[in-house]
Amino acid sequence: MMPLRRALVDSDAISANVAHLRTLAPAVHTMVVVKADGYGHGAVRAARAALAGGATWLGVADIAEALELRAGGITAPVLAWLHAPAEDFRAACAANITIGVSRIEQLEALAAIGGATVHLKVDTGLGRNGVGAQERDALFARAAQLHHARVITLEGVMSHVAGTSRASDMAQGDDFLVAMAELREHGVEPELRHLTASAASILHESLRGTMVRFGIAAYGIAPSPELTDIGVRPAMRLETEIALTKRLRAGDGVSYDHTWQAEADTTVALVPLGYADGVPRQSSGNGWVEITGVRYPVVGRVAMDQIVVNVGDDDIRVGDRVALWGDPADGTPSAAEWAAWSDTIGYDVVTGLGRRVARLEWQR
Ligand SMILES: *Cc1c(COP(=O)(O)O)cnc(C)c1O
Repeated sequence: MMPLRRALVDSDAISANVAHLRTLAPAVHTMVVVKADGYGHGAVRAARAALAGGATWLGVADIAEALELRAGGITAPVLAWLHAPAEDFRAACAANITIGVSRIEQLEALAAIGGATVHLKVDTGLGRNGVGAQERDALFARAAQLHHARVITLEGVMSHVAGTSRASDMAQGDDFLVAMAELREHGVEPELRHLTASAASILHESLRGTMVRFGIAAYGIAPSPELTDIGVRPAMRLETEIALTKRLRAGDGVSYDHTWQAEADTTVALVPLGYADGVPRQSSGNGWVEITGVRYPVVGRVAMDQIVVNVGDDDIRVGDRVALWGDPADGTPSAAEWAAWSDTIGYDVVTGLGRRVARLEWQR
């Protein structure tokens, strides 16, 4: 029997998306980012699918995520770029994880181990991770020194764009060129130069460098509202079964605070997925689900374990399959639509699945 709450993951869709994105935004290398458990799709599963689609690199935020890939048998290059204040890099180095470095202290920790492969992460204007403008020169000088002494291998330089506007993205690209010129003055020219994630990789050919980094688009979700038509298909379907149906009279209320009341006699169906499973509570009053190819509205508040849908006089029964998000080609809402109903982004929707939701391969 299928688990009651399940996120079906279509590995072939991830592979096909990656293959398609490689033609849409070609670069020497294509990294697929599988942080946050592969954006909720399962990190090892997503990594395998991405590599099958032609990815040559995998990216994660932290080292625990990188080591999970190695434990899952993934031998491809993996880059991790966000570390604990006093991170111990020994296990990562032993597992051949490439380290993104934003602080000189990280560099010294790696120097003490020896043999690490490093990408320097430069903040070119996002104002987040990556070495700041004031600390950049010292980091570059020390990294170059360690590289020349063969203590580390300085393989890459990276940044991340903010996507605020075309002009600001281009300004970041210009600063990235300045950073590379500074490294050249120190006698280093890293082979891998990368700063664009899904949106900027597609939008800005001039910023692609020698590697593009795809996260959300690989999972078939638009990276921004202006990029809804990029030819990828959703790789996740969140589904369950109707647990109960009941007839309501006009005026009957549903769920906490009775924010919805039946206008006429109707049938409602109970869906055993709630905010603990990743259904955004913010969507209360706005969501839609698909049952047997037809969309029905979610009514009343999203609760921890359940939501209620109004099916009118349709013949919907206990045990009928119900999907919250998946592929619109099946009549199912997309994760992006759920995001719009919840005042958030598709990234937030797919990464928000709770522990009760089983991940299974999606056999279409
Ligand atoms: C998360 C992340 C990505 C992927 O971003 P998407 O918008 O999902 O494509 C790429 N690079 C870095 C540094 C990231 O943190």
